[in-house]
Amino acid sequence: MYAKVIVDVAHSEVDKQFEYFCDDSVKVGCRVKVPFGGRVIDGFVVGVSESSEYPPEKIKSIVSVFDEPPALIGECFSLMQSICKRYRVPKAVALRLFLPTEMRTGKVMELYKRFAYFKEEVPLKRSAKKQAEALLFIKQNSGTEFSALCNAFGRAAVNSLVEKGAIEVVSKKINRNPMVEVSGEGVQKQLTPDQENAVQSVENSEKRVHLIHGVTGSGKTEIYLNIIARQLQRGKSAIFLVPEISLTPQMLSQLRERFKGQAAILHSGLSAGERFDEWWRLRSGEAKIAIGARSAIFAPLENIGAIIIDEEHDSSYFSESSPRYSTIEIAKMRAEYNGAKLILGSATPSVESFIMASEGKYNLITLTKRINKRPLPEIIIADMRREVKRGNASAFSKALREELSSALESGNQAIIFLNRRGYSQTVICQDCGYIAKCENCDVTLTYHSEENLLKCHYCGAKYRMLPACPDCGGRHIRYNGTGTQRVVSDLKELFPNAKILRMDNDTVSGKDGHYKILKQFAEKKADILVGTQMIAKGHDFPSVTLVGILDADMSLHFADYRSGERTFQLITQVSGRSGRAGDKGKVVLQTYSPENYILRYAVSYDYKGFFANEMALRKSTGFPPYSLICRVMVTGTDDKLALETLKSVYFAIDDIRKENLDEFIFFNKMHSPIKKIQGKVRYQVLMRLKGKKLLPQIYDIAVNNSSAHTLVFVEENPNNLS
Ligand code: ADP
Ligand code: ZN
Repeated sequence: MYAKVIVDVAHSEVDKQFEYFCDDSVKVGCRVKVPFGGRVIDGFVVGVSESSEYPPEKIKSIVSVFDEPPALIGECFSLMQSICKRYRVPKAVALRLFLPTEMRTGKVMELYKRFAYFKEEVPLKRSAKKQAEALLFIKQNSGTEFSALCNAFGRAAVNSLVEKGAIEVVSKKINRNPMVEVSGEGVQKQLTPDQENAVQSVENSEKRVHLIHGVTGSGKTEIYLNIIARQLQRGKSAIFLVPEISLTPQMLSQLRERFKGQAAILHSGLSAGERFDEWWRLRSGEAKIAIGARSAIFAPLENIGAIIIDEEHDSSYFSESSPRYSTIEIAKMRAEYNGAKLILGSATPSVESFIMASEGKYNLITLTKRINKRPLPEIIIADMRREVKRGNASAFSKALREELSSALESGNQAIIFLNRRGYSQTVICQDCGYIAKCENCDVTLTYHSEENLLKCHYCGAKYRMLPACPDCGGRHIRYNGTGTQRVVSDLKELFPNAKILRMDNDTVSGKDGHYKILKQFAEKKADILVGTQMIAKGHDFPSVTLVGILDADMSLHFADYRSGERTFQLITQVSGRSGRAGDKGKVVLQTYSPENYILRYAVSYDYKGFFANEMALRKSTGFPPYSLICRVMVTGTDDKLALETLKSVYFAIDDIRKENLDEFIFFNKMHSPIKKIQGKVRYQVLMRLKGKKLLPQIYDIAVNNSSAHTLVFVEENPNNLS
């Protein structure tokens, strides 16, 4: 027999199939070890055949075979081909997407434990007291873990019982089951008529993709769970994606409770062993629901009935490393292959998805009301220009201070949201205008008061706080802007008796850092939660009746065509945390531009108005979805080489452009806005194209110009143009 093998090397030169001798234990989809260029490396079997075109003396043998059943399912190879064609990556790179990293490096193995079982009575000496006790125990507790039995009665006693044949020891494979604390929320709720209609609409529509546009608190989770349950009844499996899994402990415990062992969680916060076991539970068919963030779209499930993408507008659904895939695009491929339903859900769908729905390409399901007819929170605009005129230079408007005290007085909780972390944004010398920047990254540093350090948020470098300006020696150093740490210390002064929690990238660390903070807040161990984007996602805290948005404008002024959309989404999502149960909710939105149309639409919860306006704007200015922004990045440590590569990329694309003038709206080459990150210079060719027609050629140019020294890659409608 001959196996066709793709070697696990991310290089276009070895991006083909190699043949090896094998026996019939080798099946398509197995991982194998093969001799390759004097070494033994990992590979994937993509085909098995009886004959070979190569002369036998040139063919080597497979060294060893892993996996029973094969790790890669048949669908992987079809997806691999689509992914390679679409994103121009070597096959090995595409196949790696389907396996947890720890499996590729081969470091994690199955965990076995030994258990003791009672077999039969045996005569014991009178003096053997321990043995008698142990025998009595195991008779009543057959199946106790062997090591626990040894700990209780002594290894010698237990071993002699084994020798006498009284106890049998059996090794068993253990699933390291990442137990999420169970909340009692798993009970199935009686669906409201709106929810029932939504489930029916998904069931009955012939369309492949369904968009559930439901206001915050409209009960989307319950709809998803019902869709999944119906697919399981039909013997099918399901994938359920959330933006950031560590931020959704409530959702996870609901799923665990409802579906018990049928749900498996793929989650970067798990230990490698746990993730390995959860993955195999899916592969073996024991678990039928894969839950996770972006990468769980590659879960090893067969016969998929539904793929659900919650908060579908979230930017985390775009991969930022090679291949730079869109999760929705991959989900469409998998849904197509399996004949499955793809369900996108959000209170603020991306304009790309909503336009598909309004053109009838997706099945649109709208939920306009919260569960139990709870009103959406009232949003009060606080004009910060007026506050400054009144002499209030603090981060809190009068309205927010008043609403905070009344929320706290009535025993409710509040969430304070701002976009920045750290104590303050930038450090400026007031004498000469010097701004502290990172040496590796060409970005401004942020002051962190707890450690009294300056930090780079791009590479993590730390710098000591300066007593004087390094440029002019001046001692008038000022901090600009407000960060989460600053807000917390200001709040402590305003409300000395309130308990305050802070959640941002600095406070959350370790496996369940997020979870611990969210749990404390959910248990009402604190009155106020201060945080960045992380607290905007779908949390459901019943006692929160006030949300303060400190700097609603921040994201409005980013130089990005999406900034309006992002701001609208952020305000709606953060506001949606208020008034979900109990008392009516309020939101205080602080801004320096209260007349801005985006804020106006957000305040009146007018998604349709926002959408119409945004689309008109995008159309007249020629921005996505009416065009495609394409950026070819060139980065490397050697500036000269990178610049040469940039030129060669630029001229190659220019040749295409000359033949396709009407496809190009914009075309130029330049330094990237951030000229250096982690010591690597960054150049770019920036284009705005009419459509996707020329993408394959542009990807080819990137691949052909990439080298060991200079990395060249393509980004489509990048989330971040820095
Ligand atoms: P969304 O994801 O749309 O913001 P959630 O799914 O978090 O909304 O639901 C909002 C709240 O309503 C939750 O507390 C949930 O437990 C509750 N809920 C959902 N469906 C029902 C129902 N049919 N009956 C009673 N309560 C419900
Ligand atoms: Zn840096």
